Amino acid sequence: MTELLIGSHLSTSGGWGELLRRSHEERGTTFAFFPRSPYGKRSKSLDPAGAHGFAERLIAEHYGPLVVHAPYVYNLAGKDESKREFAIQALAEDIRLLTPIREAGQEIYINIHPGSHVGQGAEAGCRLIGEGLNRVFEQESGIMVLLETMAGKGTECGRSFEELATIIDGVDDGANVGVTFDTCHVLDAGYDLVGDFDGVMRRLDDVIGLDRVKAIHANDSQFGLGSHKDRHANIGEGHLGLPFFTRLVTDPRLGALPMILETKELTETTHRDEIALLRGLVA
Ligand SMILES: [Zn+2]
Repeated sequence: MTELLIGSHLSTSGGWGELLRRSHEERGTTFAFFPRSPYGKRSKSLDPAGAHGFAERLIAEHYGPLVVHAPYVYNLAGKDESKREFAIQALAEDIRLLTPIREAGQEIYINIHPGSHVGQGAEAGCRLIGEGLNRVFEQESGIMVLLETMAGKGTECGRSFEELATIIDGVDDGANVGVTFDTCHVLDAGYDLVGDFDGVMRRLDDVIGLDRVKAIHANDSQFGLGSHKDRHANIGEGHLGLPFFTRLVTDPRLGALPMILETKELTETTHRDEIALLRGLVA
């Protein structure tokens, strides 16, 4: 088996070069970052002019696909039209910022939380998300957008494989969308990854198709099956546990995908240690 493509969600303060330095520190082979502030303001540190050079360094160092995380404020399923419009325009801008990286030859995805229907109902929410993505891709389609599997907190859309499949069906060019499999969220949503890993994989393949899954958010879960809480735990310290993560990293389908840790940094070396731990499980 080849080496895991793994890294954590890194801070962009200091710009492209600092991202890479932080990744070296944790010995990563991929990573995530926010393309703008968590509240949606344009990034001051990620200068568009530096994107190409950044990509060249990643390629020279044989990085795996990057999995950028869109800010949490985007809500393509919002009730308020101005909220939806903001999400559409901001996501199109993010794609524009990052496209030079892909064009340089470095694989990169943008992961989004599909959206929250805020009382309009899951069906209406999924439809709005598909429509919103179509508007995004009319403007910019240089990078594949990954819909994250959600825990089902509040009115989140994407809480089941079926909801994600419905959203994907609403996108005109399916080549523009994929899925990020968040291990904590999938357990939270009610899929028994511990007791029936193979059954969950079969279901994922039947409903969405394993070939659509492009990235993993590798998080343990503070709460158990079907809790809908969305509280990440450090690797091996939650309800998923190390036997599950061994399963994950040795799975021929999922183990080859870029894996992003979104666990708490308890000390300066938490992520470096967790990366080493997961690599060790492969052996
Ligand atoms: Zn997320």
